[in-house]
Amino acid sequence: MSNTPTLARQSKIVKKIQRFEGTRVIPLLLKRKGQPDAFFYAPACAACGAAILDLTNANVSTCGWDYSKPVKLASFDGADFYVLESDGAWTFCKSCDRSENKPWTPADCVFKNDQRRSFEREMP
Ligand SMILES: [Zn+2]
Repeated sequence: MSNTPTLARQSKIVKKIQRFEGTRVIPLLLKRKGQPDAFFYAPACAACGAAILDLTNANVSTCGWDYSKPVKLASFDGADFYVLESDGAWTFCKSCDRSENKPWTPADCVFKNDQRRSFEREMP
């Protein structure tokens, strides 16, 4: 049974890779005068379900986290990425977020207000 920890770790990694729980995004049509229509992907609040348009008034928070046993997911772009044991990262309106959800970060650090593709942006 000397390889039990290895098997358990592999099983955990496979489970994490197969399905992550987290924020859903809502596809919206964005109409702005003088500009072509565009799609906008708004995160849905995990508590009230509202489409969050003001990203400065929302947080991305980790629920049920356990920092004690991070599991390496991958190496990419010169960094190692680890999965935290948790119930996932979710976006919340600030009024819906609970202070015990952590770690957290402001939603505008994760999502972008300007979601146009590079070729859609106006040249200065
Ligand atoms: Zn909410």
